[in-house]
Amino acid sequence: MELNGVMVYSEDVELELQLLGKGAELAAKLGSDLSALLMGSDVKDAKTLIEHGADKVYIADHPKLAQFAVEPYRTGILEAVKKASPEIILLGATKRGKELAPRVAAALDTGCMTECIALDVDDERRLLAERLTYGGSCIAKEMSRKRPHIATIPPRTFQKPEPSKRDGKVIKLYFEIPVSKIAIVERKEKSRGEGGLEEAPIIVAAGRGLRQKEDLQLLEELANVLGAKVGCTRPIAADSGWLDEWIGISGLKVRPRLYIACGISGTVQHAAGIRDAQIIVSINNDEAANIFELSDYGVVGDLYKAIPALTKALKSGLK
Ligand SMILES: Cc1cc2nc3c(=O)[nH]c(=O)nc-3n(C[C@H](O)[C@H](O)[C@H](O)COP(=O)(O)OP(=O)(O)OC[C@H]3O[C@@H](n4cnc5c(N)ncnc54)[C@H](O)[C@@H]3O)c2cc1C
Repeated sequence: MELNGVMVYSEDVELELQLLGKGAELAAKLGSDLSALLMGSDVKDAKTLIEHGADKVYIADHPKLAQFAVEPYRTGILEAVKKASPEIILLGATKRGKELAPRVAAALDTGCMTECIALDVDDERRLLAERLTYGGSCIAKEMSRKRPHIATIPPRTFQKPEPSKRDGKVIKLYFEIPVSKIAIVERKEKSRGEGGLEEAPIIVAAGRGLRQKEDLQLLEELANVLGAKVGCTRPIAADSGWLDEWIGISGLKVRPRLYIACGISGTVQHAAGIRDAQIIVSINNDEAANIFELSDYGVVGDLYKAIPALTKALKSGLK
């Protein structure tokens, strides 16, 4: 079968729009078209996807698709692939996307490059990817040799394109929806902390340099002056339970304009979550701390003196 075109899918429409941005670039290089898939019950975003670059939108719309289940959604993607025959499939690396991608790849007897941070195509139309490896301390360059090429992409890796008035084709998919082998017995709302760290333009982050939970107040005062959010390293959240979420390879990936690391040593696991921060400022009393290697500005000193001094200076500077 002739494979042609780029197809994108994520159940998170915002991420799917970001995939359309990169997908359009790859489709232009390949001289092919760009399609997107929508799945669910009573789906409504086809127009938005077209405005953000999709030439075709495949729709799998059925009450049985209202809740995510891996087998029905996998079947939906395979149906769209059957219709569109894309040579590249980009899937969002959400929790659900990570469940779907290897299953789709196995069904199509092809490979899957996961959590790619950069994508390109070579002269032989092969998909090239960059992925973080060794806990985020190195970048692996990979090439997919078998088509269709499949890659998963984490949220906020690529820019969402600007919308424009354009025409596109909407194609409905009809297929037998398999019964999921897994039944969901209960749903619970996940309790979230302050939230919004992933979008925050400024983050003040706490590490184990803090002696007790009450001392987070120092960071909150600084954050208030800057209009920032407070984040932390994993031990502060997972071990001490002072905050709900942490930043790093096993936590949130953030990309603020300004990241202020307070009493953080700068391990590879934490660094993996802040590699996209534009400016990193660190306060640490150990001048050999690794965080200084990652920082644009460093204060070698006691955070219990440096943070109040910084807060005071900013307050008086803002008057
Ligand atoms: C599988 C795995 C996944 C992990 N994932 C993550 C992750 O996603 N995110 C994450 O953060 N960690 C993660 N970790 C944990 C990681 O390895 C480190 O343990 C953690 O990042 C260290 O956090 P920290 O910098 O707060 O603490 P520490 O490494 O203990 O550093 C504390 C720093 O504070 C400084 N300090 C002490 N007192 C003061 C003071 N008064 N003033 C100024 N500075 C002071 C010290 O010099 C030191 O540099 C993971 C670990 C594993 C094994």
